[in-house]
Amino acid sequence: MKTRVLVLGAGFGGLELTSILSEEMGDRLDLTLIDRNDSFYFGFSKFDVMFGHKTADAVKLAYKRIVKPGVKFCCETITNIDPGAKRVTTDKATYEADILVIALGADYDLAATPGLAEGGNEFYSFKGAERLRDVLPTFSKGKVIVGVCGAPFKCPPAPSEAALLMHDHLLKRGIRNDCEISIVMPFGLPIPPSPDTSKALLHAFEERNIKFIAKHSVKAIDPSRKVAVLDDGTEMPFDLFLGIPKHRVPDVVEKSGMTVNGWIPVEKTNLKTKYPGVYAIGDVNSVGTPKAGVFAEGAAKVAAKTIIAELEKGEQPTPYRGDGVCYVEFGDGRVGKVNVDFFSGPAPFGSYTEASVELVADKQYFGSSREDRWFGK
Ligand SMILES: Cc1cc2nc3c(=O)[nH]c(=O)nc-3n(C[C@H](O)[C@H](O)[C@H](O)COP(=O)(O)OP(=O)(O)OC[C@H]3O[C@@H](n4cnc5c(N)ncnc54)[C@H](O)[C@@H]3O)c2cc1C
Repeated sequence: MKTRVLVLGAGFGGLELTSILSEEMGDRLDLTLIDRNDSFYFGFSKFDVMFGHKTADAVKLAYKRIVKPGVKFCCETITNIDPGAKRVTTDKATYEADILVIALGADYDLAATPGLAEGGNEFYSFKGAERLRDVLPTFSKGKVIVGVCGAPFKCPPAPSEAALLMHDHLLKRGIRNDCEISIVMPFGLPIPPSPDTSKALLHAFEERNIKFIAKHSVKAIDPSRKVAVLDDGTEMPFDLFLGIPKHRVPDVVEKSGMTVNGWIPVEKTNLKTKYPGVYAIGDVNSVGTPKAGVFAEGAAKVAAKTIIAELEKGEQPTPYRGDGVCYVEFGDGRVGKVNVDFFSGPAPFGSYTEASVELVADKQYFGSSREDRWFGK
């Protein structure tokens, strides 16, 4: 009988792991990949949608394109996970697995920030980005706040990118001088592990008159007064609030009993959970890297190689290093790059490549190469 591998979630982590297992073991596995959506989109494509640069359809990659040896994709909603029995129930079926990989990402908890759903906007969900595409053209003057409601949150550069792209958007419409932009961020710096990237971002904010409010988060929104309340009680009036909601594991993960302090704990070296044969990769775990696609992808590589080594009685892979490359939109048609490494040294460190027009092509290749690998050309 073939080994049954069940991969929950076809995001960055699930797609990468599935691609590796199929390439290396193909039809020797019975690999089922489950996701509630019928298509994937990169996190950064939400900016394209929100600022009206691309349509929603143009950035969606349909899962039906996946044709890989050994792999079956099922568009189903997962309703129950029993990690001990490696049994998973969806709205359509029940699956028994020999190896279970949980790659269900992070969900948003809008209700954890009172007033956010009623009085603010968020650009972290696809729906939120689509809504903003219609809201932004109606905004013509006043105060914009890009506000983080709690850490951890996906893609730490994204709030800075949103503010810089917002600056471009307002400039293009000729209304930048009628508007103020502020960012509220729980960290002391925009990208704490990379002082050079942070310095470049702070410089870009200063040049564009964007106010960076460090070490604070937004704890509530008062929709009637259009005021954001920070964690120390400070009130900031706004005309347009672009929020980064608090994050949490999907309900089905919480219900599974696998979380500790909100996320699934794993062995740092190989992404194994405490349940034999069960792995958790990407945003859903608490391995200690930021919540970002590149880290989900790196974790998927190590988990996939560990699975293959165990099935084929081969050598264990090099332990997970928690490293990756993030591209950062600086606006004005330029992209910067930060290489970060969380586990190799005594402390996380990052190096910065200055923002340039040339790096725009690198970022495009980052997306297109993954699309080719995961979905076929
Ligand atoms: C605005 C923005 C910009 C970003 N930019 C970048 C960037 O430039 N670089 C970068 O590396 N990262 C970026 N990210 C972060 C990145 O998108 C995520 O960190 C990454 O997708 C995490 O991968 P994952 O595999 O853990 O989870 P996801 O990619 O979120 O995949 C989880 C999957 O699980 C599915 N799922 C969840 N619950 C269920 C259920 N009950 N049943 C069935 N399916 C379910 C979801 O539909 C989803 O497809 C950005 C994020 C945002 C919001």
